[in-house]
Amino acid sequence: MSNLKQPVLFFCTVLLTIFFSHVTCAQTYVANQSDYAVTQNYYVTIIGKGFSAIPRLAQLNLFANLLPKGGDIHHHYSGALYAETYLDWVEAKGLCIDRTNYKVEFSVPPPIGADCLPAAQVRADEAFYRQLLMRWSDKDYSNHSHETLPPDQQFFKTFEYFTTISEADHKDGLLILKQRAMDEGLQYIETMLIRAPSAQPTALDTALDRLSPLDREADIDAELDVAWTRMENDTEFQRSILSYAASIDKATDGLDGPEFMLRTQAYVMRNDRPSAVFSSMYAGFNAAQKTDKLVGMNIVGAENNAIAMRDYRLHMRMLRYLKGKFPGLNLALHAGELSLGMVPPEGLRHHIREAVDIAGARRIGHGLDIAYESDADRLLMKMKQKKVAVEINLSSNALIAGVEGSAHPVTIYMQHGVPIVISTDDEGVSRSSISHEYFLFMSRYQPSYAVLKQTVYNSIRYSFLTQADQAVQIQLLDQRFTAFEKKIAAMVRGFPMQ
Ligand SMILES: [Zn+2]
Repeated sequence: MSNLKQPVLFFCTVLLTIFFSHVTCAQTYVANQSDYAVTQNYYVTIIGKGFSAIPRLAQLNLFANLLPKGGDIHHHYSGALYAETYLDWVEAKGLCIDRTNYKVEFSVPPPIGADCLPAAQVRADEAFYRQLLMRWSDKDYSNHSHETLPPDQQFFKTFEYFTTISEADHKDGLLILKQRAMDEGLQYIETMLIRAPSAQPTALDTALDRLSPLDREADIDAELDVAWTRMENDTEFQRSILSYAASIDKATDGLDGPEFMLRTQAYVMRNDRPSAVFSSMYAGFNAAQKTDKLVGMNIVGAENNAIAMRDYRLHMRMLRYLKGKFPGLNLALHAGELSLGMVPPEGLRHHIREAVDIAGARRIGHGLDIAYESDADRLLMKMKQKKVAVEINLSSNALIAGVEGSAHPVTIYMQHGVPIVISTDDEGVSRSSISHEYFLFMSRYQPSYAVLKQTVYNSIRYSFLTQADQAVQIQLLDQRFTAFEKKIAAMVRGFPMQ
């Protein structure tokens, strides 16, 4: 900076403080700042930080939409697509919607006597169309009085309507999500694309299905060994795993480019019998050795379900066992997606810890009940030290668990230095977007601009991309932030000062 500019800046700063409306001086001041500083200062003004200041929500919304977002790494493929897309697919396949239960009728033609509406008629019937959207997503769940299910049931039930049709064309769906991602300033998605297959049930499953999470570890491992050997020699199951890996390759082929990458996670349903959960986990780990598009494993489904609660520790032990057999596959686990009252207090004490300590999860999905965990302070310290990131899904958490605003533990994680990422979970079901999730993050928690940027970078640094791919994505993100700050600075410099 020249000798002349320093006193000019100081003089202007003083004048700005006293006479904020001094147009010429203010413009000189802004003109002399770096793009980063202008962006940061503008962000501070719209975020409403400080005593009695309130966020300027419209400006924050624009800022959130322009912001580079890095990656969305807690992302369910089927829950990301909007119901309107699924209705388009119903139409394209010549299917119809059963008027009595809002489900897709897959028989063509529909059974005689079925009360079934083609998609065009669904759209033409305003009342039925709105009802369908309300069942296939959380649309209008809480903005007017009507008969509703409990919120977590409403959420999980939506998948019953569209799961089958969502599998009709993974490539088509991924192309829609890629386009949306690029429109939203995302450059990477790590999605839970296809559920890992389970082995056919056999009479030999009985011992595994009788396991208790409280059994001795050696007894559990002995049973898992038996199941492992059986699966290794099950040619039909091995064939289904090959086909699973091939379907991931096929769906993701050609999606990567200079501005966008996509990788997938295998997922298993936590509310199935133990033998099915274990074989599905095995399939996910095994398939990851056959395709580099599969970079992680997750466990999904309502965590407060009776089976999920009963078998939670058993599932963590299964994952630990399989990590020993297939080292290298990363775990991002839904854990602690619970709030007080959903389950007895004892059920809130150990899920996050066991995901970290037993299964060795590198990322935690939601982590909502951290405040209720036994020795939560020490667990937080451990997560910070081990760099276990927490995936924050604000819209989803508000609806499913009723946790939002200042009660959301995102502030606990930030305070304790545990890395966080902002993600969507199921933007189609929540009728949200990654930009909106950042808008909520900024307007509710008022992170500094440096923390906001750090959070965006976390979405690449804590992704399961290879180190080489991460380096490429970080470089791209650097370029995007430079362009973003240039754009915001130009916008601010162009504002009439009044
Ligand atoms: Zn999720």
